Amino acid sequence: MSLSLSDLKNNFNSKLQNLQTETQLKDLQEEYLGKKWLLKGILAGIKDLSNQEKKTIGVESNTLKEYILQELQKKSAEIQATRIQKQIESETLDVTAQFPSRSLGHKHPISITTELLEDIFISLGFRVEDGPQIETEKFNFDMLNIPDNHPARDVWDTFWISDDINSQRKPGDKYLLRTHTSPVQVRTMLREELPIKIIVPGRVFRYEQEDARHTCNFYQLEGLVVGEGVTFWDLKWTLDTAMKSLLWDQTKTRFRPSIFPFTEPSAEVDVSCQICNGTGKIAEKNCSMCSGTGWVELLGSGMVHPFVLEWCGIDPEKYSGFAFGMGIDRIAAQRFGVSSSRAFYQSKLKLNEQF
Ligand SMILES: [Zn+2]
Repeated sequence: MSLSLSDLKNNFNSKLQNLQTETQLKDLQEEYLGKKWLLKGILAGIKDLSNQEKKTIGVESNTLKEYILQELQKKSAEIQATRIQKQIESETLDVTAQFPSRSLGHKHPISITTELLEDIFISLGFRVEDGPQIETEKFNFDMLNIPDNHPARDVWDTFWISDDINSQRKPGDKYLLRTHTSPVQVRTMLREELPIKIIVPGRVFRYEQEDARHTCNFYQLEGLVVGEGVTFWDLKWTLDTAMKSLLWDQTKTRFRPSIFPFTEPSAEVDVSCQICNGTGKIAEKNCSMCSGTGWVELLGSGMVHPFVLEWCGIDPEKYSGFAFGMGIDRIAAQRFGVSSSRAFYQSKLKLNEQF
């Protein structure tokens, strides 16, 4: 009988050694200590033995049972520890790990300024219009009272689309890169009912010598209001209010008589220079943004020329309107205190990232 117990122990040990999972451990526990436990069969056979033998087997059986229980508990702890260790290894999170930082970028100062201007004019009741960057001569010049022989046409140094592309053109369809956003005003007046109250932000192109204040392409924002009883006073109030909202509430505006073919009367609008605070001087030197005058020319404006209204099918006897235009780049330079708007096109991240 002792031999059987010893066989039982050996079998148990070899099974225990090979098991890997908690399920296998449970099965082994059931096999040795469960309802049909193996020791039970052995103990059932001891009734025929002598009292001394019964006593010995009983003690040995209990010892074996204790042993099995202890070994199973040890193995269980071992399996659990291994499982946890594996889990820790597979789910390691190193909070001190360094990763290369990823910059998400941000808006360009010109985009920021465009959105600001849109917000200001929308709050004054305007809506935003858009139009093509490649325009026809008709919409860019003729319809705006700037015919081919008009001296003012020289002011708009133009990038013309090559004649190879234009070979199929009809008169007035000659293509160019728009020199201003005004063609969108014409398109809107031709298309829509009155009253009209729009702003047109967009990219325009001029064949120019570049300097601190001039670049070959830049962004412009124009506005147009047409309806009954629109006056020059409305124009002055609108621009003065918009510039104060845009720059700061102490900003001064100055209207100077000017000549534009598409407006009559016309005025150029200056604002007090934000770089030198309208003094014209920075550290006793002339401010480069305003050339020492204390004023920066930011806008062109005027009452829409009766010819332009008429060509767009609007009766100038009954209706009137005003229009204005400004360079968004120059406004961005003023707002952000950058002395040359050309810097916005030079991909200088150190500059752009400041805003
Ligand atoms: Zn200045």
